[in-house]
Amino acid sequence: MADVINVSVNLEAFSQAISAIQALRSSVSRVFDCLKDGMRNKETLEGREKAFIAHFQDNLHSVNRDLNELERLSNLVGKPSENHPLHNSGLLSLDPVQDKTPLYSQLLQAYKWSNKVTLGKVLKVIVVMRSLFIDRTIVKGYNENVYTEDGKLDIWSKSNYQVFQKVTDHATTALLHYQLPQMPDVVVRSFMTWLRSYIKLFQAPCQRCGKFLQDGLPPTWRDFRTLEAFHDTCRQ
Ligand SMILES: [Zn+2]
Repeated sequence: MADVINVSVNLEAFSQAISAIQALRSSVSRVFDCLKDGMRNKETLEGREKAFIAHFQDNLHSVNRDLNELERLSNLVGKPSENHPLHNSGLLSLDPVQDKTPLYSQLLQAYKWSNKVTLGKVLKVIVVMRSLFIDRTIVKGYNENVYTEDGKLDIWSKSNYQVFQKVTDHATTALLHYQLPQMPDVVVRSFMTWLRSYIKLFQAPCQRCGKFLQDGLPPTWRDFRTLEAFHDTCRQ
């Protein structure tokens, strides 16, 4: 996994730190055991008090020693790289039962895959997801900028072109159409398949009037079932 996520963690120190935590827990337990047992097994009261105090001090010294050791090791452990594209989700890679819960590898695949929505050299689509549900989509021209001035993905601005504004509207309608709350994966797949039909946005004639342009626009509507192209006004 080290080739996928740059984990700058000192594993040796990590292992020692876990042992140090166990030692600290033991020494703290001994302190409470000592308090619980109280003054026992001595002939005189003075002898019992002295033995108890000495025992108690020994235990507190042990706690102090184990705590210092843990603090020393915690500085050596280091921390995972924060440059990972999945941010905190990258921590899933540390799950020791990868075979049973391959969430991390699936996330990586989804991440790489989601960076390819761009459709050919026709358009770019920003698909905003909330958990597994598609929240909204914004369609822009292939040459349009999709980042804000500070380098973040701009998920709010509309396209400058009427044709992509139309496609954005239709994509929003499509999201309402492909609603299956119990099967979000099917929704994503259906929506993406529908979206992919726009790769021929400027090449497919309208299936009703047969023309490429109407009012200066190509057929911007795609049938949800057949994926056929229609002008907005020809789809009824
Ligand atoms: Zn038409």
